[in-house]
Amino acid sequence: MELLRDFRSRGLARRCIQAIEELSSGEEYTFMHVCGTHEQSITRHGLRSLLPANIRLIAGPGCPVCVTPAGDVDAAVELAEQDKVVLTYGDALRVPGSELSLAQAKARGADVRVVYSIREAVKLARRSPGREFVFFSIGLDTTAPSVAMEVKRGLPANLSVLNALRLTVPVMELLLGMGDLRFEGYLAPGHVSAVIGARAYEVLAKAYGMPVVVSGFEPLDILLSVAMLVKQLREGEARVENEYSRVVSYEGNQIAQRLVEEVFEVATVHWRGIGRVPFSGLRLREEFSGFDARERYGLEQRSGRDIRPGCSCHLVITGKLSPQECTMFGRACTPAKPYGPCMVSSEGTCNVAYRYGG
Ligand code: SF4
Repeated sequence: MELLRDFRSRGLARRCIQAIEELSSGEEYTFMHVCGTHEQSITRHGLRSLLPANIRLIAGPGCPVCVTPAGDVDAAVELAEQDKVVLTYGDALRVPGSELSLAQAKARGADVRVVYSIREAVKLARRSPGREFVFFSIGLDTTAPSVAMEVKRGLPANLSVLNALRLTVPVMELLLGMGDLRFEGYLAPGHVSAVIGARAYEVLAKAYGMPVVVSGFEPLDILLSVAMLVKQLREGEARVENEYSRVVSYEGNQIAQRLVEEVFEVATVHWRGIGRVPFSGLRLREEFSGFDARERYGLEQRSGRDIRPGCSCHLVITGKLSPQECTMFGRACTPAKPYGPCMVSSEGTCNVAYRYGG
């Protein structure tokens, strides 16, 4: 770990790649990460081309915007069309619903605004008590604590939450049961792990025999994490290791975990491109249900059109296809005019591939 002082040192990267080459001795290994920031770092720094040919890195479902189901976007659009002010993060604006995105609803006159946090949503709602506001809450384990904190403090009466928060470990577990998807180790996401701790992945190692390394985001973090995974495999081990110990602890942020548990309960929810994932979502607990936009406005949980004809996001999200293998990539689908959800956000695998190449 001492070596990681200079996270972008070419010399250290070279030594790390050499170690991976020696450790793997030509054995073919595929490793999956589930993090949009990892995909950006891997692609931007060309790590796939630097690694030996026998080591493959694939991207799983790490972009919250990409996995938010069309049905949830439809619910947000419906509320916007009913004259509610819908507030959400910038990336969520263009994610396609079954018919419309929030950006398209806005273009038709709906009041849809970008906020950077739920705190900003609270301020906006307080400033206009005569209007009704809905915060469309998209995100993974990292976003949940800030939402939980504001809900626990008490939202203004004219603000509710349309919740689409997702949990990372249950989907990582589900992917291990996909017969047509094979990989030998997980690079666990650094940001998410700062909240849930390295301990959260023990189930993957212990119950499924899957090596896991919690990884930081610098090129050397990722290369070192790959080396650690290869080493585990060569030793016939499957354990959870923490390469990102300068930020992530074994237990994680227990204050944040308790807060999330106090406000939310775990629910089985639908992921775009994947389907129903047991115990992979968060739902406001009964005592906070007055802040739940679905309850307040009587919205039913509906399924929407997640994948449009010709889009292969369901395969990209599960690491079965690279963006460049989709016939729409860079032609009918670009970041300026995204056809599928993986091209919308800067964390989407197709968007990253378009911006930084293969
Ligand atoms: S390139 Fe576009 S259409 Fe193809 S999988 Fe990616 S987002 Fe979907």
